[in-house]
Amino acid sequence: NASLSGRKVAVFGLAKSGVAALRLLLQHGAKVTALDARSEDALGDVAKELHANGVTLVTGATPAGLLTRQDLVVVSPGVPLSLPELEVARTSGVPVWGEVELAWRVMELAPGGAPRFLGITGTNGKSTTTALTGELYARGGQRTFVGGNLGRPLAEAAMAPGDWDALVVELSSFQLEGIHELRPYGAALLNLTPDHLDRYANQGEYGSAKARIFMNQHAGGDFAVVNADDAAVMTLAASARVPVYGFSVTGRPVVDAPALAGLAVMQDGGFRLDFSGEDFTLQNRALRGAHNVQNAMAATLLARLGGVSRDAVQAGLDGYPGLPHRLESVRVLDGVEWVNDSKATNVDSVLVALKAFTGDVWLIAGGKGKGAPYAPMVEAGHGKVKGVLTLGQDADALARAYANEAPVHACGTLDAAVAKARALAAAGDTVLLSPACASYDQFKNFEDRGDTFKRLVGAL
Ligand code: ADP
Repeated sequence: NASLSGRKVAVFGLAKSGVAALRLLLQHGAKVTALDARSEDALGDVAKELHANGVTLVTGATPAGLLTRQDLVVVSPGVPLSLPELEVARTSGVPVWGEVELAWRVMELAPGGAPRFLGITGTNGKSTTTALTGELYARGGQRTFVGGNLGRPLAEAAMAPGDWDALVVELSSFQLEGIHELRPYGAALLNLTPDHLDRYANQGEYGSAKARIFMNQHAGGDFAVVNADDAAVMTLAASARVPVYGFSVTGRPVVDAPALAGLAVMQDGGFRLDFSGEDFTLQNRALRGAHNVQNAMAATLLARLGGVSRDAVQAGLDGYPGLPHRLESVRVLDGVEWVNDSKATNVDSVLVALKAFTGDVWLIAGGKGKGAPYAPMVEAGHGKVKGVLTLGQDADALARAYANEAPVHACGTLDAAVAKARALAAAGDTVLLSPACASYDQFKNFEDRGDTFKRLVGAL
């Protein structure tokens, strides 16, 4: 691994991260072959960029023997590491790295070494915690790269490692499968619930992928941050060889937890760090809901343990602008608050959204259903949801679930639902788009659905 210069490297998968890896390899003088299942036409500008840089492009099926002739294979997170051709490469001794591992190795070898790496994983809350942690580090005056699974690929940071003091990186389980030596200075595991079981044989395998975030940490500086209320997380945290800091909203952390170096605990209006006695307030609307208290505690631990000052952390918690489509406050009109939670594409997300509100809610929901029962969200909204405005394919299933609970208005489209909500909602109410469904039946993706909602609400 001394140098990439002149080495034969294949990049597998040419989505955003694969392309970033490829540019990094070219910067280091590697002889690159790029592979993608899509046709040259479908690759468009990417194909043109490759040709202009002398990269060999192979589209469609992987030719036998191509990967075994390489010195290294770098894989985009969208490509399963279990592909037979990757297995063959590995057994013949060719290293197979994920894009983040490549970025890490390059930065480790840079003059001055890799910047401080703060890694964040978990089933839910990764993007919020990553964006917030980035905000805290930036407020602390550190030159901060925020990216990974969210936003910019890590390989972009590695193009100019000297530009950064801190790397705040969202890591999906797919990305973690592709790391070998990457060593987070601070590693956070937020929660673990069944997810992506399409790509994992079982929950155990999914958990082991997440636990890889701890495997290269060194005692004597590095630290882990974990959800002390989550039994599955605490079991995995037992593998960490570094001080483990927990956060808890219940105040009753899991009993068989490994001895914690410290705990952040939710309290009225904010939270406290028990090991330092510091109190933080959480008044920011972009961070409402108990789930966001968890995200805020995780981000605060990552920042305080990484040397960001108390005042900078509090300023960051207050000033964090929020990510679009996650309980995003769009507008208050005639006393009615309109909230865009289009990212809520499953029932669990609607549960945490409804728990974040105390008053009367008009819920806009529906789309391409995922087959999970709606009963839990009906229950979570009991006494709060005044009416449901349905859209999309799963409207009837939602109407059945709410039949004995709240009035249901079949609106069909988001336009009609916004108009209906405008007519129904009174001052003090909230109109919440939290669909519990995917968007593909009527929109390109959840961003398109949320943007459409914001445009419609803006025009009221
Ligand atoms: P991810 O990047 O892991 O998908 P996001 O921060 O984008 O996480 O949040 C996605 C959704 O997950 C949110 O809309 C919210 O419904 C839910 N969520 C966020 N944080 C948490 C948390 N700490 N625990 C449980 N659910 C959460």
